[in-house]
This record gives sequence, structure tokens and C-alpha cells, in this order.
Amino acid sequence: MTYRTLKPNKRIALVAHDHRKDDLLEWAAANRDILQSHELTATGTTGKILEERLRIPVRRMLSGPLGGDQQIGALIAQGEIDILVFFWDPMEAQPHDPDVKALLRIGILWNIPMACDRATADFLVSSPYMQNEYQTQLTDYDAYKNRVIR
Ligand code: PGA
Repeated sequence: MTYRTLKPNKRIALVAHDHRKDDLLEWAAANRDILQSHELTATGTTGKILEERLRIPVRRMLSGPLGGDQQIGALIAQGEIDILVFFWDPMEAQPHDPDVKALLRIGILWNIPMACDRATADFLVSSPYMQNEYQTQLTDYDAYKNRVIR
């Protein structure tokens, strides 16, 4: 079995679609103390709003539709993001829907804790694992990697 260790200091990615940005901001404000004790990364506009309104440092990627979702996905695959808080909009199709789906897929693939609504985000940040080490169990893809291509 393969594991990835999530250290006590978590690297958290935050992404919110436009109609969910207020929700994320409200949630982040309510959990500001917890969030600022970790390392935050966000897509461009989400990060800008979080930095400006909450005065917490956020590493900003490109805006989601301009490639930011893919950048966050790449960081997850590289083991550089531990947690994803992704408030996607269930009521509106996005121009970058394939990227949204790809980000959700890569989060599942690497078994990272992922919250797409406030209730799950609340459960997540109140978990004892937030302040402690956690071993993420990874699916064994050796058979896939070693498959014979004819
Ligand atoms: P944004 O991107 O934070 O730059 O608005 C979010 C998204 O649509 O993925």
C-alpha cells in the first residue's frame, strides 16, 4: 500500500466559482484563524478576494477559466496540495467545465480531502487531522503503470 503523509501544516487550495465566492468568503472569514495557520493557494480571483478582504497571504494561480484549475490539479498530482476546498456552482455551466471535472477527478485520484460545500468544509476544518499528521492511502496503480502496450 502506498501512502502520502499530510503534515500538521496543511497546504490548502481554495477555489470558488463567481456565484459561490460570497459563500467561500463567509466560510473563510468564520474560519480565518484556522486557515491562516496553514498554507493557502487559490485560483486568481478567489485568491485576490481572500487576500483583500481577509488580509491573509494566499499564493495565487491563474484565474480558473484561464488555466488556474489545471494548475491546482497539477499541484495535487505533484503532492503539493493536501486539501481542496472547491465551491463549484451547481446552477451554472462554466466555460471551463472540462477543467472543473478534471480538478474533481484528480482530487479523487490522489485521495485528498475535498470539500465542495460549506457543511463539508466545516466538518473538514474541525477534524483533529487538520492539526495532526494524516496518512492518505493511495490506490496502487502499479498494474496500470506496468501494463503491456502492444
Ligand atoms: P477564479 O477561478 O478564482 O479565478 O474566479 C475560479 C474558477 O472558476 O475555477
